[in-house]
Amino acid sequence: MTDNFDLEHIWHPYTSMTQPLPTFKVKRAYGATIELDDGRTLIDGMSSWWCAIHGYNHPELNQAVTDQLQNMSHIMFGGLTHDPAIELGKILLKITPPSLDKIFYADSGSVAVEVALKMAVQFWTAQDQPQKTNFITTRSGYHGDTWNAMSVCDPVTGMHQIFGTSLPNRLFVAAPQTKFHEEWNPQDIAELEQAIQQNHAHLAALIIEPIVQGAGGMRFYHPEYLRQAKVLCEQYNLLLIFDEIATGFGRTGKLFAWEHAQVEPDIMCIGKGLTGGYMTLSATLTTKHVAETISRGEAGVFMHGPTFMANPLACAVALKSTQLLIEQDWQANIERIEQQLTQYLTPLKQLDYVADVRVLGAIGVVELTFNVDMKTLQQQFVDRGIWIRPFGKLVYVMPPYVITSQELSYLLEQLVEVVKTMQGVH
Ligand code: PMP
Repeated sequence: MTDNFDLEHIWHPYTSMTQPLPTFKVKRAYGATIELDDGRTLIDGMSSWWCAIHGYNHPELNQAVTDQLQNMSHIMFGGLTHDPAIELGKILLKITPPSLDKIFYADSGSVAVEVALKMAVQFWTAQDQPQKTNFITTRSGYHGDTWNAMSVCDPVTGMHQIFGTSLPNRLFVAAPQTKFHEEWNPQDIAELEQAIQQNHAHLAALIIEPIVQGAGGMRFYHPEYLRQAKVLCEQYNLLLIFDEIATGFGRTGKLFAWEHAQVEPDIMCIGKGLTGGYMTLSATLTTKHVAETISRGEAGVFMHGPTFMANPLACAVALKSTQLLIEQDWQANIERIEQQLTQYLTPLKQLDYVADVRVLGAIGVVELTFNVDMKTLQQQFVDRGIWIRPFGKLVYVMPPYVITSQELSYLLEQLVEVVKTMQGVH
């Protein structure tokens, strides 16, 4: 084995095997600190892509995993059950929309989305409406990398061109245009209304990330869009699916983003921060009505059952992580982070190559007027002791909630300096 093994043999997310981007070897991580193999430390601005809400190596989360390990790390969920799944389920039903009542545990966010789409199709076939199999969504969305999840991702920035006709054709309308803090523009819903009016006979559901469109552009839109979308779904018999995989567990300043609009979906996907970033677990929740309708259908059952469904280790740490979150004044903490993000990032708006700066909850986004050179920029961040992974025109941060104000100041000061040094380079 050589030092180049990783470079030569291991695929990283969205990278080439002939021209792979550099990777930095991590020895350990704790709190909001990532320690590299060469001894350098980085302040984490990414929470490992929305996940590590309590930071790394958290003693109570470690303990929850260790305790569960003494009992069993895994057991099949067909015909068997266990306390971690049950106790986690109880707490999830308390913190998600009141109308959601049934939980399906899956292994990743993408699979939770597949499960949601399958539920919607089975819901309509169970009512003798087998033509209602398609989905409508907005542009700039992101729902995961598996086949059907991919099919509802943005068709331009997503992977549609590469996979072409092998992907099912979905219906796309413009992304919501009115920004979160702007005054609602009633025209914003017109395209969705028209598309649903014309196509509802073939549509099983509308799938959407509530309030924050994440990997599709880090866009924050107006809650009224969701309220009106809900009315349309009810009027034209479509289920409403919220993908809260990124927005869940406090990130937007509410425990879940639906709360900004007070609109309850028929199906909701959660993941990422669910286990505090310890391991992969997701859940698809639905109403009694949807679940019972599916169960009354010809199949009589919901047709999905992953091998690692409700993995006990993952459920145990998810339970502890969720308890940790809701037992503290998490909202005040997110406000602290939000204020600091706003204070440091807003002045960047003055730069002529900064198109926009936006902050919501513990998410801070600097949108540039040009695509960044990820390799160079990432190296600059690492050289300055911070971990930020930009993409496209976006330099964004979503730090672990345990980040101290001093750590966050350092992270943001360095970010701002790096963005300022782009003057004349772009
Ligand atoms: N939906 C959303 C909104 C996401 O942000 C992601 C992950 N970036 C997914 C689904 C897919 O989750 P996973 O990567 O765990 O499959």
